[in-house]
Amino acid sequence: MAQDKVTEEYGSLVFSDADMRKRLPKPTYKELSRVIKENKPIDLDIANEVAHAMKEWALEKGATHFTHWFQPLNGITSEKHDSFITPQDDGSVLMAFSGKELVQGEPDASSFPNGGLRATFEARGYTVWDPMSPAFIKDEVLCIPTAFISYTGEALDKKTPLLRSEVALEKQAKRVLALFGRTPKRVITTVGLEQEYFLIKEEDFEARTDLRLTGRTLFGAEPSKGQELEEHYFGAIRPSVNAFMKELDDELWKLAIPAKTKHNEVAPCQHELAPIFEQGSLAIDDNLLTMEKLKLLATNYGLACLEHERPFEYVNGSGKHDNWSISADGRNLLEPGPHPEDNLQFLVFLACLVAAVDEHASLMRASVASAGNDHRLGANEAPPAIVSVFLGDAITPIVEALIKKEHAEAHEDEVMDLGVPALPDILRDNTDRNRTSPFAFTGNKFEFRMCGSQQNVSDPNVVLNTAVAEQFERFCDYVAARSDEDFLVVAMRFVRHTFRDHHRIIFDGNGYASEWEAEAERRGLPNLKTTPDALPALIDPKTVQLFQTYGVLSESELHARYVAKAEQYAKLLNIEANVMVHMARHQYIPAIVSYSGDVATTVATKAELGIDAVAERDLVRRLTEGTNAIYALVTELEEKNASAREVADPAQRDRAYCDVVIPAMSALRAAVDGMENICSKACWPVPSYNDMLFYV
Ligand code: ADP
Ligand code: MG
Repeated sequence: MAQDKVTEEYGSLVFSDADMRKRLPKPTYKELSRVIKENKPIDLDIANEVAHAMKEWALEKGATHFTHWFQPLNGITSEKHDSFITPQDDGSVLMAFSGKELVQGEPDASSFPNGGLRATFEARGYTVWDPMSPAFIKDEVLCIPTAFISYTGEALDKKTPLLRSEVALEKQAKRVLALFGRTPKRVITTVGLEQEYFLIKEEDFEARTDLRLTGRTLFGAEPSKGQELEEHYFGAIRPSVNAFMKELDDELWKLAIPAKTKHNEVAPCQHELAPIFEQGSLAIDDNLLTMEKLKLLATNYGLACLEHERPFEYVNGSGKHDNWSISADGRNLLEPGPHPEDNLQFLVFLACLVAAVDEHASLMRASVASAGNDHRLGANEAPPAIVSVFLGDAITPIVEALIKKEHAEAHEDEVMDLGVPALPDILRDNTDRNRTSPFAFTGNKFEFRMCGSQQNVSDPNVVLNTAVAEQFERFCDYVAARSDEDFLVVAMRFVRHTFRDHHRIIFDGNGYASEWEAEAERRGLPNLKTTPDALPALIDPKTVQLFQTYGVLSESELHARYVAKAEQYAKLLNIEANVMVHMARHQYIPAIVSYSGDVATTVATKAELGIDAVAERDLVRRLTEGTNAIYALVTELEEKNASAREVADPAQRDRAYCDVVIPAMSALRAAVDGMENICSKACWPVPSYNDMLFYV
């Protein structure tokens, strides 16, 4: 897009605040703004007027249908399209859209994963308009962002708890700020999501059943070259990829998604896209749309976009970095200012963050657990499965000094100034870059790096928001209980005690080192390597208590999420095992048998000529042994998968998949990959890693 077009078309497919101002009667616009800003319920008269204006706008943009766009528990967005047409008595049609249609929809809740919520209540589910996230047009459909709830009001989606956690966090943050004499109108989370993905040739993608059905390669011998030369990272972008990225930017900008940075990543064919941060739930909506556009637009360039956490063994996997902060009326509350050591308000927020992560480290880990992400976390890849907090060179010494003072109990009465950073923020990078930390303070925000690339990151944000709200409340209670003392002294003591009590979670060293694993164990930090290890934290009494206290998730809503995740894990692995069996039986075994047949014929022919074909004879023997091994391993995997599938209890079923089926999958893969290494390229039925990762 040309420069002037960019400014003209930015947000053109979004029903923005400016569109509303232009198209709505003034009092309606004012009321709607109030609803949005103050997070208030909306009445039907207003909704009718908004619906009308929205429809007129959408029709002008060529839309013919509308849909309630929502995020069921499987994390993918869902939509059911209804057209605007309303037949009239005279045989003509009107394009109509009512306030009721805008505010509420009724998809069939039974077709979505619900973790058992439906069994106990009615099958009916409702989508409810979220006026805080703007409506947009996608493929001639007006999309209305909504929450998805059951007949009895229980959340069936990922967005409802996210919005509730934002409410809880705002409430507690305002209480903290009030103690510092501040009364902001709004406190919001800000979230910037860096999205990693792979792009490969579409023809390679189509030629591999594993990629098409599971998003990752279940077989594939190690490529001759990996990422060791580090030539891809930030390297020149391929022309086809460049053209794709340009169109992607254009499409995202039309949707007012502030795509900002694009570059190659560490692994061959791996790339990253980062938008400018936005209000939390909006950033997540936009990330889901971005993921959809990535896949869709890649095909225009003969490419396939892989969003899986580990599409290829032997090279890096993909994550999604969740950059997170809190902002009060536009002011970043995690901005340390030039003198963090004197900025008491900042230190209180920082201490609360550290305590929140330590208190709920297992839950944080569980919030990003999935079969795909297990290939990154706890598998010698970035970042490790152990949750720790990196504070960096500028902040760690301050924290250490505070703790030391605390031990000495000396300067308790030292009065600090409030540290209002009136000066503009200096452009100093006050953290060095530690890429191995799962939760890193990066200057004026935290970066949670454990999230999986294909994940809807509502879950980790719900945990973070709520866990932080809990610590804010703890601070307020702490101060209230010491109302006869000087606030500054009390707040300082809170900071010191908090850093002292949660010191174990702070770790600035190399998170990949094996020594860290031993050290973390000594510190008593959880190391939950796999999804079945991590998921129970979701229904731990401590978690139930946390979410209930802040009205984010009831016990049954939480349990439903646990069941849905546990089932998802087993289902995904069942599919992967099925695909492996299928590929082995229908592609690999026939290919190896036919190739070894050819070589055997050569051995026989040469023997007739009186030549002993030593190499060929050895090759046939190895190919035959390999075929026998694969044949046996396929049967073994089939049987193990069948028994795992039969396990009734979701937790035990997941354990069976993790402990029994995955090793059987690995054994089969090793046997097939070994054959790939000695078979001719011509006979091999699928593209190899060398082909897929190093295309031109
Ligand atoms: P990197 O992680 O590569 O160093 P940046 O520091 O440029 O990248 O930022 C990464 C992401 O963090 C971007 O999406 C950016 O908009 C986001 N970000 C920056 N400031 C904040 C903030 N206060 N809150 C949330 N996200 C932020
Ligand atoms: Mg980052």
